This record gives sequence, C-alpha cells and structure tokens, in this order.
Amino acid sequence: MQHPDLSIVVPAFNEGENIEALVARLVPVLEGLVERFEILFIDDGSQDDTFARISRAARADPRIRGLAFSRNFGKEIAIAAGLDHAHGRAVILIDADLQHPPEMIAVFVEKWREGYDMVFGQRIDRSADGPVRRWFTELFYRLFARFGETPLPPGAGDFRLMDRKVVDAMRRLGERARFSKGLYAWVGFRSIGVPFEVGERLHGQSKWNYRKLTRFAFDGLSSFSTLPLKLATYLGLVISLIAFAYALLIVARTLLLGVDVPGFPSLIVSVMLFSGIQLVFLGVIGEYVGRIFAEVKRRPLYIVAEEVGSRHAGEAVVREAEAIERRERAGEQRRGRNMPAG
Ligand code: UDP
Ligand code: MG
Repeated sequence: MQHPDLSIVVPAFNEGENIEALVARLVPVLEGLVERFEILFIDDGSQDDTFARISRAARADPRIRGLAFSRNFGKEIAIAAGLDHAHGRAVILIDADLQHPPEMIAVFVEKWREGYDMVFGQRIDRSADGPVRRWFTELFYRLFARFGETPLPPGAGDFRLMDRKVVDAMRRLGERARFSKGLYAWVGFRSIGVPFEVGERLHGQSKWNYRKLTRFAFDGLSSFSTLPLKLATYLGLVISLIAFAYALLIVARTLLLGVDVPGFPSLIVSVMLFSGIQLVFLGVIGEYVGRIFAEVKRRPLYIVAEEVGSRHAGEAVVREAEAIERRERAGEQRRGRNMPAG
C-alpha cells in the first residue's frame, strides 16, 4: 500500500453537526497541497450521530476513514489512537469544531517542507474561552513553567503537524495519564510555532467542563513534576522548625514563670490544623499512587468498537463471509447429531 503524504487526525466527541462542514473545508485545502492524503476521524464514544456522519463521508470519499471507540476515552486518548492508525508521512491534528482554521494547514506543510519536524499553531488570544477559564489556564501555565520538567511554548495546543519521526516517538510513550502538550515538548525535534486566531465553535459547545479541566491540569502537573510531593517535605520541615522554637519558648517560660495549665483551645486548633495538612498530603500521595496503579495495570489505552473506510471495507466483507460459513457449519453439525443412529 502506498502511504499518503498527509494524515489529518480529527478527534470528535458529539460533533455530528460539524463533520460535513469540516470535510468541505478540509478537502479543497488538502487537494491543493499534496497528492495523497487521508482524513481519519476518531469518534470518542459520541452519543449523537457523529459516527453515522463519518461513515457517510467515508462511503462518499475513499480518502476518509473513521474509527469509533467503545466509549468516551477523552481527547488525549483519541489523539493517541489517531497517531496509531494514521499512515501519512506527516500527521496533522485538528479539532472537529472548526476552531482550528483548515487553511492554516498550508502554512504547516510549507514549514514542514522547509525541514521542521513539528509545526504547531500558537493561539494569539484566548478570547474564545470565558474569563474564568482564561484565568485558570494562565495559572496552570505559570505553575507548569515554574515547576514542570519541560518548558511549554506559550499558546501551543493540539493543532499541529508532526513528521513521521515525531509520530513514531510519540507512539513509544505508553503512559495513560496523557498530557499531550507536555509530551510534544518532551519528545523534542526541530519545532516551530505559527500564530493563528482561534475561531468560534461552529456547532455545539465545548466538551470541557471544570471538573475535566481540573483533572487534566493535575494530570499535566503530576506527570511532569513531583513538586506536589516535595511540598510535603518542605512544609513538614518548616512546621517542625516552628514547633521546635515554640517548645524552647515553653521550656523557658515554665522555668521562669512556673507551670500554667490553660492552652486547651490552641491545642485543639493546632491538632486540627496539622491533621488537616497531613490528610491533604496523604491525598496528594494518593493521587500519585493511583496514577502508578493505573500505569501498572497495563490496560489498553482505548478500545475500538468499529472502523469505516476504504482499508476496512474489504475486511468487513471477509468477516461477514466467515460468520455465515461458521453458522452453516454449526447448523450441519446440529443436523448430524439429531439424525437417528443406524
Ligand atoms: N473531544 C474528544 N473527546 C472529549 C472531548 C473533546 O474527542 O472527551 C474533541 C472534540 O470533539 C473536539 C476537540 O476534542 O474536536 C476539542 O474539544 P472542544 O472544542 O470541546 O475543546 P475546546 O475547544 O473548548 O478546548
Ligand atoms: Mg473547540
């Protein structure tokens, strides 16, 4: 099989309304750029008609393929699956909601041809997100820049082109808590950012809520930093020093002024404060242990329930034929057993 020059990987979760519009904008751009390309949709367990629409697009155009997860695994995992199944000499990740302008792909490909292995879109403003989310985003990036093990280029997201070399490197990272933005930076390679303006979502609404974003932020920090763990050590040291100083003070005061019994409230307050701190850090350690547990279970990253596209049309026919044959054989056996002896 001849490999396509470009694979476009599109994670889609309840994006039914956007599929056709995206294909309509992508195809002319791609046709003007390369000879062979494929568009690979990863349906991340959508509840709507996303996969039906992908299948229809795939039937109409052999360059379109799709696979559907058995449930929602999250965008990061959908991207991993896309990288696993893409055949192109370069892979481009793009959102299904048309917030990433397909026309930028021309610029990405140009940079790639100049010799860059990774070309990422850098959003110049985040006004498409609400102010609260922007504030948290900024806080997160500030924390990550300070304590993460790899620096992240500002504004870089998942909209990017990766050369086959980078894709193969990314595929070797088998971790479950996938913080792609960190992983892209971690694998390295010759990279360049291209500024672009994030559009408005065409249909539907953002699939991220604050619970998911918080989880994602902690995944990001915990897989690229052990700072939360070290904080316990630092805080413990500081508190021990204070306690030691306080003990000296009490000894001195008792020697000079004699014993005095009151002090119950301060005792209770400090017991509660310090058990609170201990529980918090137990929780932090628990988060890391939970992630270690998830990693050592070695479950597959995702489960594919269905595939459509030219490559698999043939396979489906063979599977169907085999199933019919099996059924017939089973029927013959049954008939054979029921036959009267003699
Ligand atoms: N997405 C996904 N799985 C999820 C959440 C999102 O595949 O669990 C896809 C979604 O369909 C879209 C892309 O990831 O193509 C970006 O999602 P969204 O637009 O909701 O995020 P935002 O643009 O608000 O960051
Ligand atoms: Mg979006």
